[in-house]
Amino acid sequence: MLEIVAVPAFSDNYLWLVHDPASGATIAIDPGDPVPVLAAAERRGWTIDQIWNTHWHPDHSSGNEAIKRAGAMVLGPAAEASRIPTIDVALKEGDRVRIGAQEAEVWEVPGHTSGHIAFVLRDEGIAFVGDTLFAMGCGRLFEGTPEQMFESLQRIAALPADTRLYCAHEYTLANARFAAHADPSNIAIANRLAAVERAREAGQMTVPTTVAKELETNVFVRSGDAVEFARLRQSKDTFG
Ligand code: ZN
Ligand code: FE
Repeated sequence: MLEIVAVPAFSDNYLWLVHDPASGATIAIDPGDPVPVLAAAERRGWTIDQIWNTHWHPDHSSGNEAIKRAGAMVLGPAAEASRIPTIDVALKEGDRVRIGAQEAEVWEVPGHTSGHIAFVLRDEGIAFVGDTLFAMGCGRLFEGTPEQMFESLQRIAALPADTRLYCAHEYTLANARFAAHADPSNIAIANRLAAVERAREAGQMTVPTTVAKELETNVFVRSGDAVEFARLRQSKDTFG
């Protein structure tokens, strides 16, 4: 059983530390800021051996250099290797990476960026999805097409319903408000919006989410096709 620690950073990022007690291995996922990540590891007596980057954006990779200097290897998407100058291992669709005895599948899930990858740990029932899928939302289309993002979201949503999805930002409240606007008759969305409002008022995290929750309340996942998805994504980009 892996231990997973959220390290909040910047205004709304979650940088993830994953620790395998059996082997002592520790991985930092998307360490945008090295300071709180190294501090959180040190506080627990953990040494970070690997960094897994989902994509090149600075809020996900700016800590690579300092954590690498402290002894970690940097693994990230091959398609973005030139934009992740610290990279040691370039990952492609179907590659396997390991934390102790646990294996993660590398999935290419383009849309937010052209080479964005996700790490899927089937035995643990978890996936690190970066800025592809958010609780009740999805990443902006900076580099990819609506068709790519639609496919990436459908693929993640086809994981077992109890899979826990670790996304990289606390965007749930804004996403829930948009979802309630886009699908006003959906009771599950209305209920989750109310729950998220209470959680955020109490200062609680709303991540990770699960595949089951997203199938019920994520309007982007629930889009019937890439055209409907594109319309929703565009409307969210301008939603107050
Ligand atoms: Zn990003
Ligand atoms: Fe981000």
